[in-house]
Amino acid sequence: MSKTYTKREFLKMMGLGLAFLPFMSCFSQSSSDSEQSAEAGQKKKEGKPEEAKGSESKVSDEDILLLTRDDQRYAGFNMAFNKRIKHLPKYIAVCRTEKGVQYAIQKAKAESLKVAVKSGGHSFEGFSSNDGGMVVNVSLMKKISWLDNGEVLMQPGCLLQEIQGALFPRKRLLPSGSCGTVGIAGLTLGGGYGFFSRKYGLTCDSLLELTLVDADGNVRSTKDDKELLWACKGGGNGNFGVVTSFRFKTYDMPPTFDSYVLKFRNMNVERFASSLSAWFDVSGQLPEEAFAAYVLNGKTLTVLITAYKSIAGFADRIAPLTALADSTSPTLNADLPKAMKRYYGRKGPIYFKNASSGLYKGKDDILQMKDELFNLVAGHPGIVFQVNTLGGRIADADLENASSYPHRQLPYLGELQAYWEQESQEAGLVKAFEEIQTLFHNAGIKAHYRNYPDINFKDWEKAYYGDNYSRLQEVKRKYDKDDLFHYPQSIRV
Ligand SMILES: Cc1cc2nc3c(=O)[nH]c(=O)nc-3n(C[C@H](O)[C@H](O)[C@H](O)COP(=O)(O)OP(=O)(O)OC[C@H]3O[C@@H](n4cnc5c(N)ncnc54)[C@H](O)[C@@H]3O)c2cc1C
Repeated sequence: MSKTYTKREFLKMMGLGLAFLPFMSCFSQSSSDSEQSAEAGQKKKEGKPEEAKGSESKVSDEDILLLTRDDQRYAGFNMAFNKRIKHLPKYIAVCRTEKGVQYAIQKAKAESLKVAVKSGGHSFEGFSSNDGGMVVNVSLMKKISWLDNGEVLMQPGCLLQEIQGALFPRKRLLPSGSCGTVGIAGLTLGGGYGFFSRKYGLTCDSLLELTLVDADGNVRSTKDDKELLWACKGGGNGNFGVVTSFRFKTYDMPPTFDSYVLKFRNMNVERFASSLSAWFDVSGQLPEEAFAAYVLNGKTLTVLITAYKSIAGFADRIAPLTALADSTSPTLNADLPKAMKRYYGRKGPIYFKNASSGLYKGKDDILQMKDELFNLVAGHPGIVFQVNTLGGRIADADLENASSYPHRQLPYLGELQAYWEQESQEAGLVKAFEEIQTLFHNAGIKAHYRNYPDINFKDWEKAYYGDNYSRLQEVKRKYDKDDLFHYPQSIRV
């Protein structure tokens, strides 16, 4: 039987005792850190791989550690942020260099193994691993180098908190997500949104160039193929190759950050409808520097509204919402780097199931099912329903043309979440979770964010990529004609 959490227990479990997290799914120190330390202590010669059949290049353990299941380091590198998902690849190729990645690809081809690619390890559905295949793990490739004009070159193993740690002292900003342990690679290749996206676009919109190792083991750059760059801005997760470097433009870091946390307790259906309606009305009028999240967790609603520039009359603009709330806690003019740390999250891995609950045009998409939705969320402690603002610059036509991310005209993103502590609690929560998913599906909500995937999305090609799927398949045929890079929802040849 699943445990019923008191609010205090639930907050503790969520790591929310001190601060509200706008992205409830953001909790943990990802596996990468433990991987790194496990690896650092055990850099040994016996990890040196033999040469792969068909591979011309000689590699050393400075390039790659090729781990099999009997290696004591395998378990550490096999860990993912989501404890619900378990995979057992034949090899985990922990690559430190591009040459190491090339070697791993050749080895996989020589043994006819499918390849999954892992950077930050935060895939909701474990798409960065597989059973019996090759996992190319680039989590140790963490170099960040500065170029002219505030441009920055990053390796794929960089986590968001590491990037902030490198950029903020230089007063630079890369618009991305809030959770410190998410990997820049997976985030960017599927889109990437957060507090700054309404002003600067998705993370992929700041991407100028990338390099990847394709299915033949060749190093390819988007300098030579703009179509590959288009494809990797929204459709690049584990589909065309292993990305080994990203070149981004960056922006001036705003010095301060304002946030308002509104609490609504003892929610019922009527309050759910009125608060949701007011949240959409208010968030629809916010300037691009602002962000808003609506987070229903059991019978408690938390609304977060942020802005990184002081905006005249801001308190008045959000007054229709604060008037309904039980309490409002503003934190104004906070030092921005310090404020971002409040949203990094806590140590994992954890048990959870999260998925997109759809991209919405507006409140009617949700209000049409308000009774059933509220009753399912409120009746199942551990389930969270969240809506975040997109819109603003994300909807820009030039950005739309330059990227395969297809949902720019849908300004709200829903996320359904379930968290538990014991494996025995999973079945009950997942059942309720799926009932909510059915509600959304039956209500005609069919567009989903690729970075919030779900194994049950039937028409996932259209849901993630809209009308761009067939164009993405063309790119797949060019870089991976034999479908080496494969997972349950990878782009098909
Ligand atoms: C706690 C948490 C908080 C989150 N917060 C946000 C948020 O604020 N904003 C947001 O937009 N999203 C957010 N997400 C979703 C996040 O963007 C995706 O989970 C993302 O794919 C994670 O990337 P990763 O590198 O950490 O994961 P991984 O599991 O390593 O990879 C995810 C996917 O990308 C592919 N991939 C990874 N590295 C490479 C590479 N080098 N080359 C090619 N393909 C690669 C993998 O094969 C896999 O399909 C969050 C997720 C979690 C779990």
